[in-house]
Amino acid sequence: MAPLQHAVSRMMRSLVMKFTVLSGVLLIAVTSVLMAIEYTNNVRENNEGSHRHAQLIAQMFAVTAAEPIAEGDLDRLNAQIRQYRNRPDVAGIIVTDISRQVLGSAGAVDFAPGSRAADHLVQSALGAVDIRVETTGGMIRVAQPVFHNGRLVGAVSVDVPQAAVSRPLDEILSRQLMVALAALAVFLPLVAVLVRNALGPIQKLTEAARHASSRKLDFRIEVNTGDELEVLANAFNRMLARLDASMKRIHRLAYVDLVTELPNRERFRKEVERVIGETNDTGRGGAVLFLDLDRFKRVNDSLGIGEGDRLLEAVARRLREAARGWDLSQGEDAGEPSFVARLGGDEFTILLPRLKEPSDAAVVARRVVDAVRRPFEISGHQVFLGVSVGIACFPRDGEDPETLLRHADLAMASAKRSGGNAFEFFESAMNQSAFERLVLESELREAVREDQLVVFYQPKMDMRNGAMAGSEALVRWKHPTAGLLSPGAFIEAAEECGLIGEIGDWVLRRACKQAAELKAMGVSMPVAVNVSAMQFEQPGFTETVLDALEQSGLPPQLLELELTESTAMREPERVISQIEPLRRIGVTFAIDDFGTGHSSLSSLTRMPFDVFKIDQSFVRDMTQDGHARIVIETILAMAKALKLQTVAEGVETTEQLAFLREQGATLAQGYLFARPMPFEDLVRFAKPESAAAAG
Ligand code: C2E
Ligand code: MG
Ligand code: MG
Repeated sequence: MAPLQHAVSRMMRSLVMKFTVLSGVLLIAVTSVLMAIEYTNNVRENNEGSHRHAQLIAQMFAVTAAEPIAEGDLDRLNAQIRQYRNRPDVAGIIVTDISRQVLGSAGAVDFAPGSRAADHLVQSALGAVDIRVETTGGMIRVAQPVFHNGRLVGAVSVDVPQAAVSRPLDEILSRQLMVALAALAVFLPLVAVLVRNALGPIQKLTEAARHASSRKLDFRIEVNTGDELEVLANAFNRMLARLDASMKRIHRLAYVDLVTELPNRERFRKEVERVIGETNDTGRGGAVLFLDLDRFKRVNDSLGIGEGDRLLEAVARRLREAARGWDLSQGEDAGEPSFVARLGGDEFTILLPRLKEPSDAAVVARRVVDAVRRPFEISGHQVFLGVSVGIACFPRDGEDPETLLRHADLAMASAKRSGGNAFEFFESAMNQSAFERLVLESELREAVREDQLVVFYQPKMDMRNGAMAGSEALVRWKHPTAGLLSPGAFIEAAEECGLIGEIGDWVLRRACKQAAELKAMGVSMPVAVNVSAMQFEQPGFTETVLDALEQSGLPPQLLELELTESTAMREPERVISQIEPLRRIGVTFAIDDFGTGHSSLSSLTRMPFDVFKIDQSFVRDMTQDGHARIVIETILAMAKALKLQTVAEGVETTEQLAFLREQGATLAQGYLFARPMPFEDLVRFAKPESAAAAG
């Protein structure tokens, strides 16, 4: 029972089925009503027919019997009675004279001749001189007055069995049933077809709505009925089109980076998730490359936002090309293509879904670095960028997008620290150092807020007379628990977390102020301040220097700024245009750690610097290392030819001092003379007489 119920309830869920059943029920009901009406009509007609029949027999007999009655010819009358009695449609006959005296009878009538017929029907017919009809127990009795030559002579009564004169009812019924069934057999299928045709478009619309709800929206329904359904279908189509467009727009906003048209972080995450899921099946791993542009921020600031966006677009194009180039080079074996996305800012990612070897990721990374290194043309300017790339391989370095991105990011940071324009693979040790750096960074922020930084000064000595000729400002961190920290422990972290600008600014202003104080005490000596690459490249650096000079009242001639060789040579044109205005008012510039970079010495000499500071590594090694000696000799010879000052750093022994003096170094700085010291000590160091006076 249950399966049948189930099937019925399922069937009744279809509109076509419902309408067909409904129409069928209506059809059957209408047919039944019609049948009932027809049946009652038939019964009535049947009755009337049998009455008419009975009356006709009675009339016929009355006419036949009129003469024998009038003439009292009972033999003839009886013969006629017998003759009629033999008819199948006559069950009984009575004949009377006008005084109701029975003249003859036959059949189931218990009147003897001569007796007075008590029959009320005969009596009534004679009384009224008219025909009388009565039906009792399946018998129709007709009483009829008899006239002869216009004179009433008697009456006859004829009994006609109803069964003999009327059609049987079941015959009528079965004929009607046949007709009804034939009608149903023809009309029910017709109704079903009509209903199906009429409701076909609704089924189409239902299908379409079901389709649309499963998020496929790029189809249209075809309904040409010319009625409301067509209007509905057209409205539905318009709605689908609008919904489709909106969905596409939403998808674009959610998953596409609008500046570069590359997939965004969310989309990338999903893609990585999918690919990693499939990796388990194929057994072939891949890699996530994390890209961070070098120097983009500075370029962006100088270009303006609009041009910056165009630069990002150009970068995106090159990354796509590089990735496609790699895919093509893989030929048949490539499998799935690589996937480039932008995470935001100047960060991009590339997913390499299937790699034969993890080392293949390095090939792609190199292509990317080379692609970004080529100059970009932005509104007529050549712009130089670089990119640092970190690589995390899966499943080795992580099996979810977050871990892979974090590890690739750490590797990228490491590549960036070692100078940028390079790539590095993730190593597990990076996790630990990243954590330490995090702690360091938060402490450093606190140090800046809480005034834990101090400036130490290391004197520079004149080679010719051994007198103090100036000093270098070197920052220190009075760490609450670790004690006094050297810049080597925190400068790099400060550069990475963006604190270097703030720290550098503070050191610069502090050094200018204290140099001015020293001058006020009568010691008019230049102070050298270290400037990190990031600080130098920040917009507004020149203004900061001018402001520090103005605030402190230090003459520009007493300020020297030290740039490292790599900062100086990164973009020579830009460096020159940035230092020239300051040099014109008297600020001097030194190249720090000279000789450690990889720039050719001759290109260095073309830069407008005033001082070369020979890196302490050469000074340290020169007694044992011939190469170091030659570097020093060359630098000093060049400086002499260019009439520039030279400072030998890290002089610790008299032996070193003697050699440097012999080669013509003009200044020396090192533990041999003094270690970096607080300002108060520097005052004493510079003015032994005042110290002596005070002491
Ligand atoms: P630098 O500019 O080359 O400074 C010279 C470094 O050599 C100083 O180290 C100094 O203490 C050390 N030194 C001087 N004489 C000798 C010597 O005879 N023997 C040895 N072994 N070392 C000597 P410090 O103070 O640790 O500074 C390290 C570096 O940190 C500096 O190298 C400089 O590049 C950077 N730095 C220091 N202060 C600042 C600052 O305020 N801003 C920036 N951006 N960098 C700074
Ligand atoms: Mg220095
Ligand atoms: Mg140095």
